[in-house]
Amino acid sequence: MSIEELTAISRYYGSNPDYVIAGGGNTSFKDQSALYIKGSGIALADCTPESFVRMDRQVLQRIWAKTYPASSDEREDEVLADMMAARKPGEERKRPSVETLLHDILPFAWVVHTHPAQVNGLTCSQRGETETKELFAGEAVWIPAVNPGYILSQKVKQAMDAYRAARGRPPAIIFLQNHGVFVSSDSPAGIQELYRYIMEKLASKINRQPDVSGGLSRWGISGELIPVLADSTGDGSGKAVFLRNREIAALVKDRASFYPVSSAFTPDHIVYAGSDPLFIETDSDNFETAISDIRRLWKIHAGRAGRIPKIAAVQSMGVFGIGSSDKAAALALELFTDAVKVAVYTESFGGPRFMPQDQIDFINNWEVERYRSGISAG
Ligand SMILES: [Zn+2]
Repeated sequence: MSIEELTAISRYYGSNPDYVIAGGGNTSFKDQSALYIKGSGIALADCTPESFVRMDRQVLQRIWAKTYPASSDEREDEVLADMMAARKPGEERKRPSVETLLHDILPFAWVVHTHPAQVNGLTCSQRGETETKELFAGEAVWIPAVNPGYILSQKVKQAMDAYRAARGRPPAIIFLQNHGVFVSSDSPAGIQELYRYIMEKLASKINRQPDVSGGLSRWGISGELIPVLADSTGDGSGKAVFLRNREIAALVKDRASFYPVSSAFTPDHIVYAGSDPLFIETDSDNFETAISDIRRLWKIHAGRAGRIPKIAAVQSMGVFGIGSSDKAAALALELFTDAVKVAVYTESFGGPRFMPQDQIDFINNWEVERYRSGISAG
């Protein structure tokens, strides 16, 4: 392998919006002694040969022989410290992906982990596990939703050992409930073939595509609401962006219609779009009423959640992404749009299934405690 090949496959998937939203996902290559893994906080599409962190696989392996504290905060801190200690000399300034351990235990040279909306239509659905067994007939492993980091790697390790014991070979496809997919192979061509196989299988079951064509927009009112919502972030520096299309128009019809996107599907959705979108029931034909409804509901919502919503949906109007910068507001809306697609795809697999509340709380806490330090939720 050359680091150029790893860069190329990372950029290939990273620049395809069907696979990667907001730079999420990660890639790696390994040989006997070293793992080359994408650094945390670098978008796949922007990878260069310097984006990868060289890790000592022997040092990583020692993590499995250790006993860590039961408390999740202490455990994750210690595992993180051990992971940092596994960086090869000269790599100390880089931060490896939080899923480094998971990449290391997969017994194939190449690993490409992504969160495609079609895949998450399966992993975030009511029948995800059953459908995975039926569609992929023993070719894929299903991992129930767990917190990212050490616990997730441990669950995958156990599931792989069981798969190997039963079939005499390791699994090349691993679906993670409410997260995405890990695809592994001994060549980049093998990765591409597996992704094609996954997407074809899913396409054969998906019976409705999201309709993101433009719906009628009440631009007048939504435009006037932008400064109101932007202002709600508190310090006057907030930004808001608006979106409406046919799919969103159907979702914002009333509170019940909004249910399929009312909570979080995956950690990335929480990190960028928040776990609790605000739904504002209002008479959107009356601007003054809308403004006072929005201010009142915003306050109640922010007070209850302890943080400012990144997504605000206004009944029969559309959806606003809100953030402290244009980029943050646009990202919130981008991830919400992805959640809309995921919600539509789940219809083909029994309907939406959100992340369990304790795991949503874990990511929100992680977001506050760790995301600042440049470790992404993966
Ligand atoms: Zn991920």
